[in-house]
Amino acid sequence: MKSGYHPSSGKRGDTSLKEQGFYHKTAWRRLRKLALQRDHYLCQACLRRGKITTATEVHHIKELEDFPELGLELSNLESLCWNCHEETKRRKPALSDTGVKIIKISNGEETEGWLNAD
Ligand SMILES: [Zn+2]
Repeated sequence: MKSGYHPSSGKRGDTSLKEQGFYHKTAWRRLRKLALQRDHYLCQACLRRGKITTATEVHHIKELEDFPELGLELSNLESLCWNCHEETKRRKPALSDTGVKIIKISNGEETEGWLNAD
């Protein structure tokens, strides 16, 4: 057995996890403000199109889901206005934008079909 092995102390991690969550929230709020200040509170996407719009949102350039390690990285943040931020969300392919797959079970038999949303 390795000497670095530490047997469980019997303490549960709940408290530290909560503290971590709090730390992340505080860090994020601080970083969010830093990003806005760096971008002069202007929407960077609008600016690229020659438009001056006040930024109200801070966007993760590389998705937080794919790059969680960049979640608190200032260089991965971009100030956006509400509209542009919504657009970044829309770029994501929806799970199903044509319809909802349904599975009917009748008389013990499964039948698949598509319920089209219109
Ligand atoms: Zn914008």
